[in-house]
Amino acid sequence: MNAPQIWSNWSGYVTARPQRFETPGTVEALQEIVKSAPGPIRVVGSGHSFTPLVPSDGTILSLDHIEGLVTHDDENCRATVRAGTKLGNLTRILDGVGQALANMGDIDKQSIGGALGTATHGTGSTLGAYHTLLQHMELIDGHGEKRVFTLEADGEMMNALGVSLGAFGIVSAVTLNNLPTYRMRKRRWVLPIGDMIANFHSMMTAHRSAEFYFVPYSGHAMFLASDITDEPVTSRPLEDDEDGLKTLKLARNLLKWFPWLRRRLISDAMRKLPREDYVENWLKVYTSDRQTRFNEMEYHLPVEEGPKALAEIIELTEKRFPEVYFPMEVRTVAADEIWLSPFYKRQTCSIAIHHDAAEDPIAFQRAAEPIFRRYGGRPHWGKMHTLTGADFAKLYPRWKDAMEVRRMLDPDGRFVSPYIKRLIEA
Ligand SMILES: Cc1cc2nc3c(=O)[nH]c(=O)nc-3n(C[C@H](O)[C@H](O)[C@H](O)COP(=O)(O)OP(=O)(O)OC[C@H]3O[C@@H](n4cnc5c(N)ncnc54)[C@H](O)[C@@H]3O)c2cc1C
Repeated sequence: MNAPQIWSNWSGYVTARPQRFETPGTVEALQEIVKSAPGPIRVVGSGHSFTPLVPSDGTILSLDHIEGLVTHDDENCRATVRAGTKLGNLTRILDGVGQALANMGDIDKQSIGGALGTATHGTGSTLGAYHTLLQHMELIDGHGEKRVFTLEADGEMMNALGVSLGAFGIVSAVTLNNLPTYRMRKRRWVLPIGDMIANFHSMMTAHRSAEFYFVPYSGHAMFLASDITDEPVTSRPLEDDEDGLKTLKLARNLLKWFPWLRRRLISDAMRKLPREDYVENWLKVYTSDRQTRFNEMEYHLPVEEGPKALAEIIELTEKRFPEVYFPMEVRTVAADEIWLSPFYKRQTCSIAIHHDAAEDPIAFQRAAEPIFRRYGGRPHWGKMHTLTGADFAKLYPRWKDAMEVRRMLDPDGRFVSPYIKRLIEA
């Protein structure tokens, strides 16, 4: 489709008015667009990033029609899928051939290309982000040429391309290393935030995946732990996240200037939350629906710094930003070898802060960001931050090598929008 239209991301914070919006149906058509369409050419997955990675006043390209299963390999438990495949569809495809993703993030709306593009992750101290599943990649470079890379033959290139922001080329297909399907037992309980911080390392490593949400003004954390099990399915309880958010917003609106009352109300409600304990098939455990729109900043910190940084962020929030009612999310991610991965050679604690999409997030984020940075944080590529190439050159040991590969694949800067320029120029 070539008619100009306004594009916007999931939260509505980022918009663009490209000259052309293209949805090619084949890889050949995609190659033709890269060769001839007005630049910069930015590829969009599901538009679930909070940073302006997608906007272009040239061409925005969607892979919505380049999706689905290409082939699967039962012996090695691998599947090759087209990069526009949405994660929800991917889980059903994999489950259908007896395979499962090793881990997932909070939602399944992203495309696999987009999830790889920004180092999307779930939680688990031994579990890597999506890009650690990569075995093989097909990529269209800045000249519109198709290139193919595999882990065995092109280890360095795979390390360069595992996380690439749509700035090195357009990924058209990937092969993922999967697991045989499995069941998970998931439990949820509430505990005082002081106990959670004091026992952070033991609690976060005691389960295959563990995470917690801290609710501002509650003094409590909601801890979620999942482990693989052979126990029979008991089915997942109905989600209560959206109702919880509505209650927190109401408490904020009514009691913003009465923090002691707000604290008492929320903390009572948290303590009364029922424990949850269920067993479900892998594809029904990880993700949930996120209907209430928000904007988000997430920083990835050396794991040992997580608890200290969190304590400072909580203090900042409760002292200076009474408008915040969204829970903070705290996860761990295993170290990896991918050059632009925020988890590069680093066991990580990720802390995410959220802000109602109808309200201005900037003052809160500007106050929180120096705390994250003081603890050596690397920002999530898809979540709000103010860093530029000069900062990344210091945070990423293989930055220069990555930029060299980028220039080699896209010498004419076909994928370089003003925002990408800001990110890559040191
Ligand atoms: C409600 C919500 C929940 C979220 N939960 C999590 C979470 O649990 N964990 C987490 O880590 N993140 C999370 N995110 C962030 C999100 O996963 C990332 O921003 C992800 O990149 C979005 O995927 P997308 O398909 O929408 O990609 P887009 O936002 O459309 O694109 C992201 C980047 O990938 C590039 N890209 C897209 N497709 C391709 C391709 N085929 N080839 C090359 N580059 C490509 C784009 O150019 C862009 O640079 C969440 C976001 C939202 C809105």
